[in-house]
Amino acid sequence: MKEHEVIVVGGGISGLSLAYYSNKAGFKTVLLEKNSTVGGSFASPKYAASGKNFWLELGAHTCYSSYQNLLDIIEGCGVSDTIIPRAKVPFSLMIDGQVKSILSQLSIPELLMSAPNLFKLKKTGQSVKSYYSKIVGERNYADVVSHFFNAVPSQPTDDFPAEMMFKSREKRKDVLKNYTFREGLQSVAFAIAAQKGINIFTGMEVKGVRFENGKYIVRTASGDELTAPTLALAMPSALSSAMLSDVNPDIANHLGQLKAATVDSVGVIVRKENINLKPVAALISPGDVFFSAVSRDTVPDDNFRGFAFHFRPGLDEKVKRERITSVLGVSMSKIEHSDTRINTVPSLRMTHPQWLEKTNTLLADKKNLLLTGNYFGGMAIEDCVIRSKSESERLKR
Ligand SMILES: Cc1cc2nc3c(=O)[nH]c(=O)nc-3n(C[C@H](O)[C@H](O)[C@H](O)COP(=O)(O)OP(=O)(O)OC[C@H]3O[C@@H](n4cnc5c(N)ncnc54)[C@H](O)[C@@H]3O)c2cc1C
Repeated sequence: MKEHEVIVVGGGISGLSLAYYSNKAGFKTVLLEKNSTVGGSFASPKYAASGKNFWLELGAHTCYSSYQNLLDIIEGCGVSDTIIPRAKVPFSLMIDGQVKSILSQLSIPELLMSAPNLFKLKKTGQSVKSYYSKIVGERNYADVVSHFFNAVPSQPTDDFPAEMMFKSREKRKDVLKNYTFREGLQSVAFAIAAQKGINIFTGMEVKGVRFENGKYIVRTASGDELTAPTLALAMPSALSSAMLSDVNPDIANHLGQLKAATVDSVGVIVRKENINLKPVAALISPGDVFFSAVSRDTVPDDNFRGFAFHFRPGLDEKVKRERITSVLGVSMSKIEHSDTRINTVPSLRMTHPQWLEKTNTLLADKKNLLLTGNYFGGMAIEDCVIRSKSESERLKR
């Protein structure tokens, strides 16, 4: 049985940032990740062709100057120089097979009539639908804006708490407003994982946890056991709930109350000359089988273009293939490469602030159990890092 001080389960940005803080605070930290690489929803797989690598984001794609805690970690890892701007290409709508600008689909009189509400209404206690339909007008919300919101967590967002969708945070003035990284977001995950002192084991799925003699014992799929006085779970809420069912049924049940959606993503790479679609940041097609098709046009390449289609879950492969080829206007034979990914995102409800308050109460006297993920303060990358930072502050020897 291998002894550590902190075991982190899950190698997405939540687990990695927690491991970063724990390591920085001087704790011997080990992180276990089920997949063959770290990153989770930071997934920028590479396609090697034409003598170089073309990466495509199958998950998160954009960071902002307001992601101050993430930026501190990026600086701490010495990779600030890998930050690059995103090309200014539009987020567009696809209506009846045609690419349309957002503005062309909005009712301007309705927008002008509703806009003053922006200065009068508060988000607190309002759902996304109730708040934003007053800000942009009911028709604009239903026909256009709601589809952009749904594209963010790839699920319907009408019932999400408005205050958790887009948060206003203080921005760093010395950083690009929005940016990505030279090798995609997953390179940030690799940079954190490479920090001296953090032990990372990939391809190591945790199957169970028990608590004996003041220590957590974590059992992996291969039968290994690791032990530490502190355990940090950084997986989707349902998985963390299952891990804690014997160790702490109250917290397990509480986590089990949350709902989440799976995002079924298919990335495709096409030679530039084979596609006529004008450059876009993403395409949103209201009422379609996919929530968004996020493009690599934000970091243009000489030879290739790439698109990650984020589908509703449970669709037949044939349906997805047909939709991809029809949206891009290419035949299957023109798809050079494709890749798939399943991610989990929380389905936040209006009662989430109360749920969060109870979570923190349940955890208050459990200094040796840390919980992080994208289902606490929000699902944005910065929310994950903020949660990990505050959980790491509970670390005690
Ligand atoms: C398609 C998509 C686009 C997004 N775009 C953006 C964006 O542009 N900007 C933004 O701010 N946010 C974006 N987000 C949100 C943000 O990327 C995620 O909320 C965040 O990356 C989640 O990180 P996480 O570490 O909490 O979870 P995850 O990334 O899901 O990581 C959890 C990890 O736990 C591992 N794991 C699970 N079970 C086990 C086990 N039993 N043992 C060991 N390991 C296990 C998983 O393999 C995974 O690596 C996007 C999300 C998605 C899905």
